[in-house]
Amino acid sequence: MIEKAVLPKEVEIQEQAIVILWDDGHRSPYPHRFLRLRCPCASCVDEMTGRPRLDPDTVPQDVSALDQMQVGNYALQFLWSDAHYTGIYPYKYLISHCTCIVCAEARAGAKDQAGESNT
Ligand SMILES: [Zn+2]
Ligand SMILES: [Zn+2]
Repeated sequence: MIEKAVLPKEVEIQEQAIVILWDDGHRSPYPHRFLRLRCPCASCVDEMTGRPRLDPDTVPQDVSALDQMQVGNYALQFLWSDAHYTGIYPYKYLISHCTCIVCAEARAGAKDQAGESNT
């Protein structure tokens, strides 16, 4: 199976969210804190176990991305207002965490099928 890589066409840091427009036309909004809490760097996530090491209480409620830059051709790096910047977010990781309604529903549907509904 050949998987076509989807690349970000535009990355916009807005007041409420970081909005990524992908080159397949998909538009993904990520609330700043949502993405900050999902930082995949070694000081936020234990590399061995994959368990989160970041205490959400230490991240300001109003944390936001000040800047972003592309890493190679596979990831984005953000400079956060809490001075954290070591997280590299691969495109695949970002896409799998998309918060748009379409993806949220698709994810909820997949969960229902797997019988993992929490309700
Ligand atoms: Zn981190
Ligand atoms: Zn989406």
